[in-house]
Amino acid sequence: DIAIEFRGVVKRYGSATAVAGIDLSIAKGELVTFLGPSGCGKTTSLRLIAGLELPSEGQVFIAGRDVSRAPASERNVGMVFQSYALFPHMSVLENVAYGPAIRGTRRSEAHARALEILDQVGLAGLQDRLPAELSGGQQQRVAVARAIVQQPDVILFDEPLSNVDAKLRRKVREEIRALQRRFGLTAVYVTHDQEEALAVSDRIVVMDRGTIAQVGTPADLYERP
Ligand code: ADP
Ligand code: ADP
Repeated sequence: DIAIEFRGVVKRYGSATAVAGIDLSIAKGELVTFLGPSGCGKTTSLRLIAGLELPSEGQVFIAGRDVSRAPASERNVGMVFQSYALFPHMSVLENVAYGPAIRGTRRSEAHARALEILDQVGLAGLQDRLPAELSGGQQQRVAVARAIVQQPDVILFDEPLSNVDAKLRRKVREEIRALQRRFGLTAVYVTHDQEEALAVSDRIVVMDRGTIAQVGTPADLYERP
């Protein structure tokens, strides 16, 4: 089952080419990492999946549907950023319940779902805290909970560990991976860190100046004798 497909995707900004022709299929439930140095087109590729950018050429499909033809209200893509982007004045519970609430879920129901997800990401009991009262790793878990509560077709992680304390990075990435598996989420993960890519991915897409240099499982790419 293909969840995401890039077909001949090019993205230009003026005379600069951020993505220079990508063809790629991502299966349902797979975690695929875009790996490469700064400026190689990773974030642009994520933004194309999210529908935040439209391709200059080619198409991106989610569940068989051309993203550029799907109205924003029908796109269900969760994003987890390096900066968490939590609402600082809202409690943890309100942060997680916010998405369902603005999509018309009753407040009591949104809160119930948020509490359930918070429990599953290991934040039970912290629902009344403000984001600033949590550690970096805990804030990142709130960001993941906020994306998961929407039952997204696809969840996107853009350098999710870069603001997490170095000592906690391994733990947080293992948690992200465990949650992605437990919820059967199709995920696209962006990092410039090869060790991180090896640890979290089903498959790694190595990018180089807007193109795919190599694609394979961690074992295919790096563990050959
Ligand atoms: P990465 O995420 O791998 O660091 P990006 O996708 O952010 O790479 O950027 C790829 C290239 O496209 C870079 O050269 C970047 O400067 C350029 N770029 C990205 N977004 C824009 C934009 N909105 N306007 C102009 N150039 C952009
Ligand atoms: P990252 O390396 O994590 O992709 P950047 O600092 O390259 O982050 O980009 C941050 C934001 O600025 C993104 O939204 C990107 O699209 C935009 N951007 C990147 N490069 C350029 C550029 N040359 N001109 C305009 N916007 C850019």
